[in-house]
Amino acid sequence: MPDYQAPLRDLRFVMDELLDYPAHYARLPGADEATPDVVAAILEEGARFAREVLLPLNQSGDREGCLLEGGDVKAPKGFKAAYQQYVEGGWPSLAADPEHGGQGLPHSLAMVLNEMVCATNLAWGMYPGLSHGAADALRHHGTDEQRATYLTKLVEGVWTGTMCLTEPHCGTDLGLIKTRAVPADDGAYSITGTKIFISAGEHDLADNIVHLVLAKLPDAPEGSKGISLFVVPKFLPDEQGNPGERNGVVCGSLEHKMGIHGNATCVMNFDGAKGFLVGAPNKGLACMFTMMNAARLGVGIQGLGLTEASFQNSLAYARDRLQMRALDGPKAPEKPADPIIVHPDVRRMLLTQKAFAEGGRMLVLYTAQMLDIVEQGQDSAEREHAESLLGLLTPIVKAFLTEVGFEATNEGVQVFGGHGFIQEWGMEQLVRDARITRLYEGTTGIQALDLLGRKVLMSQGESLKVFTKEIHRFCQAEEGNSEIAEFVRPLAKLNKEWGELTMGIGMKAMSDREEVGAASVDYLMYSGYVTLAYLFARAASTAKAALAEGTDDMAFYTAKLNTARFYFQRLLPRTKAHVAMIQAGAEPLMAISAEDFGLGFEI
Ligand SMILES: Cc1cc2nc3c(=O)[nH]c(=O)nc-3n(C[C@H](O)[C@H](O)[C@H](O)COP(=O)(O)OP(=O)(O)OC[C@H]3O[C@@H](n4cnc5c(N)ncnc54)[C@H](O)[C@@H]3O)c2cc1C
Repeated sequence: MPDYQAPLRDLRFVMDELLDYPAHYARLPGADEATPDVVAAILEEGARFAREVLLPLNQSGDREGCLLEGGDVKAPKGFKAAYQQYVEGGWPSLAADPEHGGQGLPHSLAMVLNEMVCATNLAWGMYPGLSHGAADALRHHGTDEQRATYLTKLVEGVWTGTMCLTEPHCGTDLGLIKTRAVPADDGAYSITGTKIFISAGEHDLADNIVHLVLAKLPDAPEGSKGISLFVVPKFLPDEQGNPGERNGVVCGSLEHKMGIHGNATCVMNFDGAKGFLVGAPNKGLACMFTMMNAARLGVGIQGLGLTEASFQNSLAYARDRLQMRALDGPKAPEKPADPIIVHPDVRRMLLTQKAFAEGGRMLVLYTAQMLDIVEQGQDSAEREHAESLLGLLTPIVKAFLTEVGFEATNEGVQVFGGHGFIQEWGMEQLVRDARITRLYEGTTGIQALDLLGRKVLMSQGESLKVFTKEIHRFCQAEEGNSEIAEFVRPLAKLNKEWGELTMGIGMKAMSDREEVGAASVDYLMYSGYVTLAYLFARAASTAKAALAEGTDDMAFYTAKLNTARFYFQRLLPRTKAHVAMIQAGAEPLMAISAEDFGLGFEI
């Protein structure tokens, strides 16, 4: 069975030394309870819960899957008990507003714990995972009555939430949805339609399920301007606020899928279900974005968690598995062969995973600080700055970390050789589970359009400038530091190139809008590599300083420097290929007509 130890030392490095979380929390109003002692205790307890409770259910949950019986869904054995422990431990409410039963700790802390949950049992993590987004949407857009009815229950984890957007004929283009909401006499709405692929749509973990559903009012404008948001509980709350009458929403079937078997992915049939409007009529998509942005960061963390899980297990295997001798002579002469970790190519695969895990962790924790400031910051200029960075980084966190997460888990299988393909080792499950992260919450292609089109070009490059200026300031400050010139010089070049590349795409897009779509995914990957380069350069600077000052932990800082070097020398050159592909433009993609694609075979 795969093992997992939460990377507490690396987390402390990033939080305490690199990003100065203690000062960050001290400055956040309401976050003063997140003292270093409290943070340490929460991380350790979270690590224990993930390893001891969730990890043992990961493979069994994958094999068993979920069961639908007469409209009721049973999650795999042990999932419900683990969820009860999670709720009793107060984990769901960690970062929620005390006004609604939360503990008021910073969001970033919940994100750290989320990495541990995703690393040990992604399918389980999606049951509580969607509740946060549902609670957020109701907190921001719900009426007082809706907040009173649903929020505390969602925050405490007594009820769970879902996000019901996708329909059989549309996932990306939600303007096409057919689910209807007809006003009833009592101020509520009658919701009718079919939603598919609904994660945690039905299950036995909680007493009630609160669906947030996109639907169209009878007189709604066409397309995405005519979408409204409704809250549709599985059981209508009674006078005391407890689950009462069964509502007209049932799970029609469960999807049979490639991964995350332990999570119920449901077809949900709404048949005149009673729903309540959330926010203004026809403004549902904007309300849903509150939920989707939180969820997108969450999916990026899924990519990170799986990367770490894959790295840890392939490292253990590579130290243990004996095959062939090192090219420059035996390293373990007393054994029949050397452990495969001696081979350069195995090291390449391990370091690729290690660099993406450590780089991803820095990116998530850096972005998490922005989220904390947006949510709890008092200074409006600081909040605006953080909001700009958060908007820019969210599609990068979501798409880059899931793309490299899939690569990392594949490399994990490769380290195991043929055994990686065999179920009992658990490595192939990581690949299957990782595959969905590139799809849901908006595919990589859609995140890339969001980044390049909406965030960067529509702001005339302003949101990008906020970030490239920060990188520029770092490079300038470190210009005279010859100790880390190997990182700062290439970073400064890339930072300049990033701006020029963006301008180039913007110019081309003025005469041909297809240029944006043609460049977008390469642009997103390029942006991800440069962002991680910035964070690795900062990590290298911190590590160098610790080594210069003298430390008991020489090995950790030396390894950090070596990982940063590997990243700069072996992964960052990928930016060159992305630049070349971006500069090739739309022409090679658009030259073949849709009909001519199929020349060479007849259907
Ligand atoms: C296991 C699982 C769980 C899910 N959970 C949920 C959930 O809880 N709630 C929910 O509502 N949905 C959920 N989904 C749905 C998921 O979010 C969608 O599948 C996803 O957003 C893509 O939509 P689609 O499948 O309709 O693909 P399509 O929208 O048909 O897209 C097909 C392809 O076309 C590309 N494409 C589409 N439009 C463009 C464009 N303009 N430019 C460039 N490329 C484009 C896409 O990137 C994709 O590669 C889940 C799906 C799965 C498989």
